[in-house]
Amino acid sequence: MQCCMCGKDDYLLRVIIEGTELNVCKGCSRFGKVLGNYRPEVKHRIQEAKKQKPQVPAVETIQLVREDYAQIIKQKREQLNLTQEEFAKKLNEKHSFLQSIEAGKHMPSLELSRKLEKVLGILLVEEHKELHEGNLKQQSSGVMTFGDIIKLKKK
Ligand SMILES: [Zn+2]
Repeated sequence: MQCCMCGKDDYLLRVIIEGTELNVCKGCSRFGKVLGNYRPEVKHRIQEAKKQKPQVPAVETIQLVREDYAQIIKQKREQLNLTQEEFAKKLNEKHSFLQSIEAGKHMPSLELSRKLEKVLGILLVEEHKELHEGNLKQQSSGVMTFGDIIKLKKK
């Protein structure tokens, strides 16, 4: 820092000279009343105290088709006295497709499940709220089954 009076680059003191506070070198300080050491105003970075937001684990809602969809669909269809063919027509789906669903060979998509729910008045899709801890993705063995979810919950 340079002295306000002589321009010398030196260690400065805060001095009151003729009523004005100046930052001057030691040599010039004798002209006034020394207040103390000059402290450059280091603008301290306001340490953003890393206030980590209370960790709210991301909750993921997973929609799953019930594992026992085949039974539920078949049971309800029979209760409604619908043949598979009639049922297929109602849903606008292929008979063979429904057959494989009722046989448990083909899990209906969420979309179709919603349709089935409406037509049959059943509940096929269940929502699971899962804490998303990143380990869900690692289980990339494919579609998570109901069983997997239960296993996760037991952890
Ligand atoms: Zn000076």
